[in-house]
Amino acid sequence: MRASRARVMLEQLIPQFPRPRRELEQYRTPPELALELVSLLPRSCRIIVDLGAGTGMLTYAAWVTRGVYAVGVEVDPVAAVAAHSSRLYRESIVDFVVADVSRLPLRGGLSGVCAVQNPPFGFVRRGADRVFVEAAAGLGSQWVASLHLYSDNALAFLERLYRRLGYEPVHVGRVRFPIPPLYPRHFKRIHYASVVVVLARRVEVGNGAAAAASAAAGAAGQESLPRRPPLHHRGVHSGRRRVRRR
Ligand code: SAH
Repeated sequence: MRASRARVMLEQLIPQFPRPRRELEQYRTPPELALELVSLLPRSCRIIVDLGAGTGMLTYAAWVTRGVYAVGVEVDPVAAVAAHSSRLYRESIVDFVVADVSRLPLRGGLSGVCAVQNPPFGFVRRGADRVFVEAAAGLGSQWVASLHLYSDNALAFLERLYRRLGYEPVHVGRVRFPIPPLYPRHFKRIHYASVVVVLARRVEVGNGAAAAASAAAGAAGQESLPRRPPLHHRGVHSGRRRVRRR
């Protein structure tokens, strides 16, 4: 499917949050950014897990761009029901699970599992995204594509976090993420948060099933690193004015 068509489809068929909860930092990712993020994952991903799925934007984007089984995990049942009630649900192979990512009810270590996520940026609770990265690692994800709030210390912190969990960040870019005034004390029409896009590849193996899965993936031959310039250098951002893309 052409990217422009996919974008329009996601815009129309993925609901907004019916009852946005501030403490969960519920913002729907713009479709073009969702598609961009999911497209960073290599074709070897056979199952894509979307951590903090909200109303399903990244889960459906994963299905639309990759055509592989995608599972969205969301702690808020209202958001998960909204995701499930999209017309796209019947036309795709995705599922939604209501769960806290810190206690994932999914088995880890399957081969070909990759994670995509737009976790809470930590406006309400600093470092709220850490548990998401840990959950992605706990699943034994071979690749993780993720958004995080940018700050002076964020890049160094993220780099340390990913490396400690056995991941190598192979692609880091920056985009502007539009945050609508959904909540009390939000007065600006749209606030743009500076957000870091990270693609990380698992380089170390854990133990047990994850190790076996990783060894199998290694035997099948790892892909070469997607060496691309950071996103903002390619003129991709999610601001009001859309600029030329690939
Ligand atoms: N992935 C969606 C929503 C991003 S907003 C999109 O890109 O449009 C972040 C989401 O994470 C929210 O839906 C919020 O409810 C969810 N969330 C926050 N903490 C969570 C937790 N501990 N476990 C699972 N989901 C969580």
